[in-house]
Amino acid sequence: MGSESVKVVVRCRPLNDRERALGSDTVLSIDLHRCQCFIEKPGAADEPPKQFTFDGTYFIHQTTEQMYNEIAYPLVEGITEGYNGTIFAYGQTGSGKSFTMQGVSDPAAQRGVIPRAFDHIFESIQCAENTKFLVRASYLEIYNEEVRDLLGSDTKQRLELKEHPEHGVYARDLSVHTVHSVGECERIIEQGGRSRAVGYTLMNKDSSRSHSIFTIRLEICNTDADGQDRLRAGKLNLVDLAGSERQSKTGATGERLREATKINLSLSALGNVISALVDGRSKYIPYRDSKLTRLLQDSLGGNTRTLMIACLSPADNNYEESLSTLRYANRAK
Ligand code: ADP
Repeated sequence: MGSESVKVVVRCRPLNDRERALGSDTVLSIDLHRCQCFIEKPGAADEPPKQFTFDGTYFIHQTTEQMYNEIAYPLVEGITEGYNGTIFAYGQTGSGKSFTMQGVSDPAAQRGVIPRAFDHIFESIQCAENTKFLVRASYLEIYNEEVRDLLGSDTKQRLELKEHPEHGVYARDLSVHTVHSVGECERIIEQGGRSRAVGYTLMNKDSSRSHSIFTIRLEICNTDADGQDRLRAGKLNLVDLAGSERQSKTGATGERLREATKINLSLSALGNVISALVDGRSKYIPYRDSKLTRLLQDSLGGNTRTLMIACLSPADNNYEESLSTLRYANRAK
């Protein structure tokens, strides 16, 4: 697989009110034309800034609309042509993952990647001639390496992962919902969002400690000129990863520390899989190391497209976390 099928972009949010109140300095800068990101170590003015290059860079004024059109659009378009794809948001809690994936309705340019992907898919369906589509959605969460259905009748039930000889790895008993419109997709994602396990950390009291995967499966049946039906299937995974911050900063102990260790484990497993895919020389791709990578196995690598959006805070007090996000993202490209 060539690195063309994995794209990595970074997005830096503006300083927030808390950071401004603390008098935080900005340690990140971006060269939009060269897609380069620079980070300066606070209090080390004589050290040159560390430099990283990505497939796209988005600074405080860039919108989700611009990012979607430049980098996510081709991936989602591929889904409507019968390919699989995955979009991840990575970064420490409070760095803008939800802002990027779910977004806000006002201003419209900051509508999230997820609702934009819904619009995109349903617009393609409406424009296609001699084509029938079936769109189905599922939404699951991985919390402490346990998988739960966010749309099922019993959201507490743990789902087992199984392997089908043809269809690959799947979560047994995961509910699948046929959807006919953007509105239905939005309702489903809201319903699932309410079921998500929410934890508290010192960083941000709404921070979610789980990974969630919203999957849209598209079946496309084309009738060609001589009346033959041609069937294709595409699948899009929209993944909101748990915060990447290390435990020391969040002050976690006991159960929370165990949780944090598992979160870090699946994030490092994901990093290892993506970097093995990008490297292209590894015969062995370590999908089996976490539930996250097992579940996404058929949507990472091979004929699929992957987009990693690494989210960053510009503030000096987040320097270590931002540097670790940049290194993670850099390994993935
Ligand atoms: P995460 O999901 O990574 O924990 P959030 O998406 O909740 O972080 O972002 C934290 C805060 O920063 C939110 O109040 C959000 O509205 C704000 N924010 C994040 N990214 C941006 C951005 N690009 N522009 C403006 N505000 C942003």
